[in-house]
Formats: sequence, structure tokens, C-alpha cells
Amino acid sequence: MAKNRIGIDVGGTNVKLALVNENGQIVYSNSVPTRAEMGYEFTVNNIKQAIYELLKETKLEAKDIQGIGFGFPGQVDYKAGIVRNAPNIPGWVEVPIAKLIEDEFHIPTRVDNDVRCAALGELNYGAGKGCENMVCITVGTGIGSGLIINGKLVRGASNAAGEIGHIKLQMHDGPICGCGDTGCFEAFASGPSIVAMAEEYIKGGKSTKYREMANGTAITPFIVCEAAKAGDPVAQRIFTIMGEYLGVGLSSVVNLLNPEKIIIGGGVADAGEILMRPLVETLRKRAMKIAGSAVEVVPAQLGNTAGVIGASLLIES
Ligand SMILES: [Zn+2]
Repeated sequence: MAKNRIGIDVGGTNVKLALVNENGQIVYSNSVPTRAEMGYEFTVNNIKQAIYELLKETKLEAKDIQGIGFGFPGQVDYKAGIVRNAPNIPGWVEVPIAKLIEDEFHIPTRVDNDVRCAALGELNYGAGKGCENMVCITVGTGIGSGLIINGKLVRGASNAAGEIGHIKLQMHDGPICGCGDTGCFEAFASGPSIVAMAEEYIKGGKSTKYREMANGTAITPFIVCEAAKAGDPVAQRIFTIMGEYLGVGLSSVVNLLNPEKIIIGGGVADAGEILMRPLVETLRKRAMKIAGSAVEVVPAQLGNTAGVIGASLLIES
């Protein structure tokens, strides 16, 4: 019988569900609001209803589903099936999501960090196909990663491996990071740091296109990116600096792991060449020669479906 699995990607705003077949194709998808402010029980009930609807619409029964996988943006205990905490989804602290779903549907359920799920998706069906050693990073509000070593996802001793966003780029001081420390990689190179740089330039009296484009509203990484693509030299400079920071941070990752590929996804990565060119140039210059010249840096291929496709693969990973 065909191996159908359900992948569920839980975000701060929406929960995406998909029925994924044995070829990694999405055959049915749906989404429900997270509404974290209503408490985690509310979200879990929404998810249960959405799974019932999926079964009804696809005319499948629980026994036809090989497994259910969840991706969460936060600290997850894969072995115990528990979400330890998810900073962007208030109330999700020590939630035994795997048991809650298994008790309802009697389908094996696994849960892991969302970037690790994306890495599994890219490894099996996206930009990482055929790789033995690769790093999948997402650059957005922070920098997350999923590490594949010798074909296997690396979780570490306490399920906390892959936090490359907190590699230190500066000994003392430096920008304050969401983790509470200073000088972390993601405090230099992420969506908020693009906005911070953009605002600094405005304060410094630079005339910029992104200021006009924002037109009194808040500056976002997207606006700065659009301005850079439209030829604004200040916005282009910001993305060059971002690319250089990413290249320096990733040179440590390359020296440590010697991956074949680094796959880059997340909102900031949509900037494309204006970010990738300085990133790759810096990486080749700053990493050790053998590892630095071997690594290929490529954009993620699965886009926002990587999370559900990857989550569906947890059942055998
Ligand atoms: Zn940090």
C-alpha cells in the first residue's frame, strides 16, 4: 500500500497540514489559524479537526496513514515527543503533542524543530538531494539550521544541536541577541539587523529609496530588498554587509563540518544574488582552503512547503 504520511508545520500565525505521498508530493493541504493566545489546547483541537477533515476529504482512514510529523519553531524533545518551548507561540511550554495526537488517532506521531524538518525535506526532495553532508539554514528573524552528517540528521545530546545563529562573532559587547548574550551571528545578520542598519543610515542623514518606499510606515527587510533591487546604493550596501556577515559566520560552520552544500532559505534569502554574491565571495576567502572551495552554496528549493514535507519524513528519520 502507498505510504501516505501527514506533515504539520506549526507557525506563529498558521498551522499548515499536508498529506504527503511516498514520492514527497503533497496530495492534499490545508491550514488552520494557530491562535496561540487562546491557549495550546485550542490550537491542538484545531489541528485534530483539520486532521479529521483531511481524512474525510482524501477518503482515507487512520490505518492508511503511516505517521504524522510536526515541525515547531523552538526547542523540541524529539525522543519524548514534547515541545519544550516555542518563543513565537506563547503557551507552548512542555506540551506532549505526540501523545495528544497519538491518543486521538492511534497513528505514530513525531515532533522536531521546524528548521530540521526543512533540512529533511530539502535533503530528500529539494536542493540537498544526494548529499551526505549538508547544512540547511534559514535566515529570517533569526538564523536556524538543520545539520545532516553522513546522511543523518544531527540532534545532539539534548536535542539542541544546530544553533549556528549563536556562534559568536565578537568577543566583547556587540549587538544584543535574542538568547540574552551579545555578539552572536544572528544579531549581526538577520531581518532585524537589516532594519537596524537601514534606520542607522537614515539617522546619519543618507537619502535612501527605502525611506521613500516605506513612506512613513515601518521599514522592513522586504522594503530594503526591493530598494536594493531597484538600484538604491544604500540598500545594496546593507545587503553586501549582510552577505559578508553571513559569509564570515558560515566559514566557521564550513571549517567545522566540511559540508558538500549549504542550502539557504528563509525570508531574507529571497533577496537572491544581491545577498548570495557577497556571501559566497566572503565564504571562499575566509574559510579554510579545502573545505571552503569544496562547498556549494545554493538557495532552498521547496520554499514554504519544506516544513510540511520534511515533517512528514520524521516518522522514519
Ligand atoms: Zn545568541
